[in-house]
Amino acid sequence: MARKPLIVGNWKMNLNHLEAIALVQKIAFALPEKYYAKVDVAVLPPFTDIRSVQTLTDGDKLSLTYGAQDVSPHDSGAYTGDVSGLMLAKLGCTFVTIGHSERREYHAETDELVNKKVRAAVKHGITPILCVGEKLEVREAGEHHSHATNQLIEGLKGLKAEQVKDVVVAYEPVWAIGTGKVATPADAEEVCKTIRMALAEKYGDEVASAVRVLYGGSVKSGNVGELVACENIDGALVGGASLDGDEFTKLCALA
Ligand code: PEP
Repeated sequence: MARKPLIVGNWKMNLNHLEAIALVQKIAFALPEKYYAKVDVAVLPPFTDIRSVQTLTDGDKLSLTYGAQDVSPHDSGAYTGDVSGLMLAKLGCTFVTIGHSERREYHAETDELVNKKVRAAVKHGITPILCVGEKLEVREAGEHHSHATNQLIEGLKGLKAEQVKDVVVAYEPVWAIGTGKVATPADAEEVCKTIRMALAEKYGDEVASAVRVLYGGSVKSGNVGELVACENIDGALVGGASLDGDEFTKLCALA
């Protein structure tokens, strides 16, 4: 099955709402609407910018989609500082990253919590981008394949096969995030293939061939082409390079 490539810009905790508007306008000018027939593009602003991004994309009927960087496992209640899937759906979010290594590291997110968040997103019709990937010591111990598949299987627990079909998985080796040390296409492809095989084993070939598996970790316009050319890499989750409109749109055009 042909999977449509997906490029996602993770803005992390950057850009105020005016800067967000300027960046979306830049993307809108640089990528003609016909571009989206071939590639899906999404941006993940901080919560505080989502409304501004929504206003622009809705107002101009852009094909650019957007989402959030995290979601609460709960729908509402006494969870100070959290934002629910219900709220994100109301803001028109298409995607939400879940289990990003920065959340696992700085907010001690476990696979169990990641799984609850994945289920909360699915419940509200938001596509989870489930992030998996190993730290350097895990790779050096040669355990990166099993590490990624464990995070994958734990993260998807409780979902039905037809729900898994719509999930996006992002393989992001932690040692490659924000370091400029991109995985070689062969290394990235190897783990993305393992992820697809694990999906096939658990949910069947049809599901495995439908799921988009992205690579993330120091992706730039100079390396995106060789990464997305790999059979099992269906796009990229882009951090630093997504903050520069010229670089991001160049990267999208090369994907
Ligand atoms: C990320 O934030 O998911 C990421 C891959 O960051 P960077 O592209 O900066 O390595």
